[in-house]
Amino acid sequence: MPTYSYECKKCGHEFDILQRISDDPLKDCPECKAKELKKVIKPSESGGFALKGKGWFKSGGY
Ligand SMILES: [Zn+2]
Repeated sequence: MPTYSYECKKCGHEFDILQRISDDPLKDCPECKAKELKKVIKPSESGGFALKGKGWFKSGGY
């Protein structure tokens, strides 16, 4: 499972969490409970894991 990073736009809380590809993105901040989370894509991770789920093919990939 890939690790996703989230940042809360309200309180600035950042955290990483393991999620399945099929999981819905988180919205609720665990710190302030605001629905202000946004997913942060880290450059080092965006190409670092293999995605083999149905319906997902990386351009130029295998
Ligand atoms: Zn927050």
